[in-house]
Amino acid sequence: MARRTNDRMMCSFCGRSANKVGPLISSPTGANICNECIQICAGMYNEDKAGSKQQKAQTKPEIGTMRVPAPNEIHKVLDSYVIGQDKAKKILSVAVHNHYKRLKSTIANDDVEIDKSNVLILGPTGTGKTLLAKTLARAIDVPFCICDATTVTEAGYVGEDVENIILRLVQAADYNIERAQIGIIYIDEIDKIARRTENVSITRDVSGEGVQQALLKIFEGTVANVPPKGGRKHPHQEYLQVDTSNILFICGGAFSGLDKIAQRRIGRQILGFRRLQDKATQDIDLRDKNPLSMLEPEDLIKYGLIPEFVGRLPVLTCLDPLSKDDMVRILTEPRNALVKQYVKLLAMEDVKLEFSPEALEAIAEKAFEKGVGARGLRSLIEELMLDVMYEAPSLPQGSECVVTDEAVKNNSPLIGNPRTLDLRCQPRRSSSGSAA
Ligand code: ADP
Repeated sequence: MARRTNDRMMCSFCGRSANKVGPLISSPTGANICNECIQICAGMYNEDKAGSKQQKAQTKPEIGTMRVPAPNEIHKVLDSYVIGQDKAKKILSVAVHNHYKRLKSTIANDDVEIDKSNVLILGPTGTGKTLLAKTLARAIDVPFCICDATTVTEAGYVGEDVENIILRLVQAADYNIERAQIGIIYIDEIDKIARRTENVSITRDVSGEGVQQALLKIFEGTVANVPPKGGRKHPHQEYLQVDTSNILFICGGAFSGLDKIAQRRIGRQILGFRRLQDKATQDIDLRDKNPLSMLEPEDLIKYGLIPEFVGRLPVLTCLDPLSKDDMVRILTEPRNALVKQYVKLLAMEDVKLEFSPEALEAIAEKAFEKGVGARGLRSLIEELMLDVMYEAPSLPQGSECVVTDEAVKNNSPLIGNPRTLDLRCQPRRSSSGSAA
């Protein structure tokens, strides 16, 4: 940049010539600015800065009055909704407690920089990734929203802008920006934006790297301009300004194939390790362990996540596949367990509902065979209970419904008078004519 005194030159901002406004400053790109316009611009810049500082300060009262439960309290809440996954529960309770404790400590001492501890949960479908994230938000009592990484695209491609994710959280907080700024966002299917050649599409960012970069910005913390009604951003629009620095991002994904990447690395390490160790330690075979329990950030990078992205998800936890026993527990134990829900629904019609232990095992077995974790349980129970729910309101008071393993097999629970249980729900026939 240089100061110029040529009288014929004009200020690119106010359009007045140098002989009226005095010497101009010229940029290498050919723009000029006069002293007066510099003053106006500086004023505008300072106003904006003060505005964003004030906005940051606005989040403080919310955090200040917030009570951060201890990790064991958070764990207890998780226990009442989520079955199993104890290691993940512990890791998440500590991570979430620390996240909110850090926010509080920042108020006490503004010099302390908060290190965000966004979370990555890996695990097969239907094992409780979304449920864990949702329950964490419930335990802390902060706004929560779920979104899907596959709907997000880099600007310029068909799909949603990354700011729409923030909008969902603002909506979950009833447009209370202060509360939204300390909320939790769960981003599902994060593995689908990995940089892989199979992801080729003409309508969205081919490599997935652009989406990772876009998400990275909001993970790191930025003041995002969020269009209040969603959709693509355009220039003449009013925006909600949302600071993302205190929002906790929890990402989830199945990451199929990642175990093989980890296994290969572990295999190489074992080889190197064996050359160095004595006979006694050679007998420890790490290959018997679940490779995902020994996951390293480098495995995620190999899978196709960019290093900066992995770096912004420092808390890593891996869920276990659910066993049949877990499925039985999921049916009956959580606070809002499916069986409890149906018992309550039928109690409203004055019908007593009972599931035999064998019936619960049969349902769990059927769901297990579907291979979609606990996801299959709801549809199975819904199908099983459809006729019962249909008949229940017209039954005499004090009726009963019993679900046995036979009933599960035939998709036909017994309902009616408690003594006779007259087969009101007949076995349904399959298209071939035999009992389904
Ligand atoms: P995903 O791991 O695919 O995100 P979800 O958390 O969405 O799975 O779970 C799908 C369904 O199964 C939900 O209805 C949830 O309540 C139930 N579920 C899955 N895992 C568990 C679990 N460990 N404990 C209790 N319910 C579970």
